[in-house]
Amino acid sequence: MAPGMTTRLYYTEPWRREFDAEVVDVTDVGGRRAVRLDRTAFYPTSGGQPFDTGTIGEARVVDVTEDEASGEVQHVIDGAVSVGDRVRGVIDWTRRFDHMQQHTGQHMLSAAFAHGHGVRTESFHLGADVSTIDLAREVSADEIATAEAEANRVVWEDRPVAIRFVAEDEAARLPLRKQPVKSGRLRLIEVEGFDLSACGGTHVSRTGAIGIIAVRGWERFRGGSRLTFVCGRRALGALRALRDSADGAARQLTVHPDELPAAVERLLVERKETQRELRGYVERLARYQGEELAQGAERVGAVAIVVEALEGYDANALKVVGTRLVREPGRIAVLFSRARPALVIALRSGDVASVDCGALVRELFARFGGKGGGRPDLAQGGGLEASPDALVTAARELVGLGRLPPG
Ligand SMILES: [Zn+2]
Repeated sequence: MAPGMTTRLYYTEPWRREFDAEVVDVTDVGGRRAVRLDRTAFYPTSGGQPFDTGTIGEARVVDVTEDEASGEVQHVIDGAVSVGDRVRGVIDWTRRFDHMQQHTGQHMLSAAFAHGHGVRTESFHLGADVSTIDLAREVSADEIATAEAEANRVVWEDRPVAIRFVAEDEAARLPLRKQPVKSGRLRLIEVEGFDLSACGGTHVSRTGAIGIIAVRGWERFRGGSRLTFVCGRRALGALRALRDSADGAARQLTVHPDELPAAVERLLVERKETQRELRGYVERLARYQGEELAQGAERVGAVAIVVEALEGYDANALKVVGTRLVREPGRIAVLFSRARPALVIALRSGDVASVDCGALVRELFARFGGKGGGRPDLAQGGGLEASPDALVTAARELVGLGRLPPG
């Protein structure tokens, strides 16, 4: 062991959960205490795999980093230790074993893509919920399905996963899945008869411990594909979450979960029909409403003018009523919704030229905010911040009507 180098117990004993060590250095890094031990089973963040947590003595380990140049492992802790202390390190095994399942699963999936489809894995990221691999080219749904099946077949054969160390020149003669990034003595991970690659991470010792590898999704990424996957306990968690949401939706629709796609399709068809029917009703209602409004129109010369704020009308309904109103000659209509902010539409019949609807709505927006626009014969918009009364009063004035009679 080179002086200062930390002996990494997980290199040869990935199953070790506890260890004894001596504190060889304590430093302050940005207000946090960083501890170096003569040996450690804590995995430092590297190669796409996050660090281990756990305890050193009484202190909690909150981060573990490695210095590539010196080979030192730094443990950031939230307690106190001193140089020379003999301490016991304990790994949070739930977290570590989860990382081992995901990481070994990644080797299997990458190997299946390499063997089956000649696709290289460019990078790997082990996330808090899901992991990803970036593949060198775009892959099809069929290729993903066969690679996933092949990787799982080898998982269920429960093949040994061996660790060995070789010199660089020996490694050069071996059929490694990808060119190692490190030089010097290399640590190789071999899944018997399936995969051989250089890796410093932690892996299960038989493929059966991965449990299952499940691809959750994929997308195009930098000219290739990014695959999202979960292994082992995470795959069970994903299945449970899917089951809960599928069961919940199925209960709402009172169908079996298998019938969900068909039930949702039926629902969408029904909704479309309902919307069409509703549009029909709104138009019929608008016809009556338009006629009713026309009866109460006020006259300026030969022109009948309607200025109203209507309850429960959206932009489409306002347009239907307004269009209906100005279908007859000699009419002007300015209609608002009673909602706040309010919608507005202004229209005039083909034979009326006394009011510019576009100018009218622009004046309303200038006074009350909102936006929209249109032509002299039809203009509309929304976002008017004023009460229905204030809007009606302003519009009456703009079309040349007086103030509303009291009452
Ligand atoms: Zn690995």
